[in-house]
Amino acid sequence: MNQPELLCLEKSCAFCGARLEVSSAEVQGKPKAHIYTCPQCGKPDEIECTGHPHVRVLAPRNDGRTGQYQETMF
Ligand SMILES: [Zn+2]
Repeated sequence: MNQPELLCLEKSCAFCGARLEVSSAEVQGKPKAHIYTCPQCGKPDEIECTGHPHVRVLAPRNDGRTGQYQETMF
């Protein structure tokens, strides 16, 4: 049996404060940086893994805003 390991990390979004669980079925090969986006605000972040990351919301955003993350800050 050669089951892939499941990587599971708890992250919090730096923009909106949502608690996220990022999981990835680990496949063979070297880990590399994968981009995932926060489902609550759309801010991209990185995780190091070999498989494709899946994001689940553990706790919703707590910043009181409703806007989406934007690259350009005014
Ligand atoms: Zn967010």
